[in-house]
Amino acid sequence: MIEKIEDLAERIYETFKDYGVKKKEIAERLRLLILEFKVPENEAMNTVTNYLVREYKIPRERLRAPLTKIADLKSKQWVSVKAKVVTLWEPSSPAIAQTGIIADESGSVRFIIWTKSEKPEVKEGSSYIFRNVVTDEFAGNLRVIITRTSDIEEINEEIAVKVDPKSKATSFVGALVAVHQNSGLVQRCSECGRIAKGGNCPVHGKVNWYDDLRLRGVIDDGETTYEIIADSKVLKELIDMDLEKAKDLAQKSLDRGAVLAELKKKLLGRYLVVEGSADLRFFRVSRAEFLKPEVASEIDKILEEIK
Ligand SMILES: [Zn+2]
Repeated sequence: MIEKIEDLAERIYETFKDYGVKKKEIAERLRLLILEFKVPENEAMNTVTNYLVREYKIPRERLRAPLTKIADLKSKQWVSVKAKVVTLWEPSSPAIAQTGIIADESGSVRFIIWTKSEKPEVKEGSSYIFRNVVTDEFAGNLRVIITRTSDIEEINEEIAVKVDPKSKATSFVGALVAVHQNSGLVQRCSECGRIAKGGNCPVHGKVNWYDDLRLRGVIDDGETTYEIIADSKVLKELIDMDLEKAKDLAQKSLDRGAVLAELKKKLLGRYLVVEGSADLRFFRVSRAEFLKPEVASEIDKILEEIK
């Protein structure tokens, strides 16, 4: 433990050494907080950093926040992160310049670059040191926020990140604001599985087809809109609709469109907690549930305040 504290002290010292701060003092404060007062390490680091900033009257923008692995991030920290941009999403608000997912070898996290920060654009697949960023939590998801006092430095270094879709798996809360017309009971090409509208595959032309049930739509979490895809397994759990029931419904009403209407009736405008993985264009939902009403109204309030 003493060694660990020395290690943490070293990291803080690196940040403050130009300001006449003594490593011994840092270590002693950390030792007290961690060993005597049982404060968690991250919190102790923050407490000591805040103390030094105040005590030595150091302008924050001149400091370098400690490099932290993504897996060790917690909410309300002031840190630097070395990571690769693995996914960029279309921002839903002009206040956001860029948003997506960054990852290092320890994990992945959402990030937001505020337009006001006036930072150069980051590119998908490139690696950066995001210096002096802050973390917060929104709808249960940790986020790294790049502000005006942050710095983004591109680095020529390959960062190993797990590229399997699960490393991008995430969950968020939002309102389903659109159900696309190509949802519901759809026809798929027997050869390639693509949607075959009116029995026509875009690749194979007039083909044999089979029925499938799916949802395509848009979820808005207040900052970003996500094009989502959910299959019949997700719909079965969410609204107890599976392929058989969808076919029954279509048959009874002599209209395949009745399934789409039913999806809209049950889902449009509802708040959902969704889990899944994102690629550049789509968020593929692996599980979804309705948000409890009291949480939904709380989010409405917050969104109203932001506007
Ligand atoms: Zn086909």
